[in-house]
Amino acid sequence: MSLGESMAVWIEESPSSRAECRVCHRLISKGEKRVGEDDNWRGFWSPRYYHLKCWIRQNKEFIKELLQALRENGFEVDLDGKA
Ligand SMILES: [Zn+2]
Repeated sequence: MSLGESMAVWIEESPSSRAECRVCHRLISKGEKRVGEDDNWRGFWSPRYYHLKCWIRQNKEFIKELLQALRENGFEVDLDGKA
């Protein structure tokens, strides 16, 4: 599993309650942390948004691989598991 063609991922506070989460299809409340994914489709920039928890659930394997790679390269990653 990977992030596929997505080139950028970021976390931000939602400035409005209008964006829909691509996983659970519920609206992301204003002020709630959300993950944005850069979705550059045929030159049109249209970011996709996710609840932080939904994104983590969706990308668990990728996150595990990333942490594993960091550890193998000598970075100590300490997660408390509270997603
Ligand atoms: Zn969601």
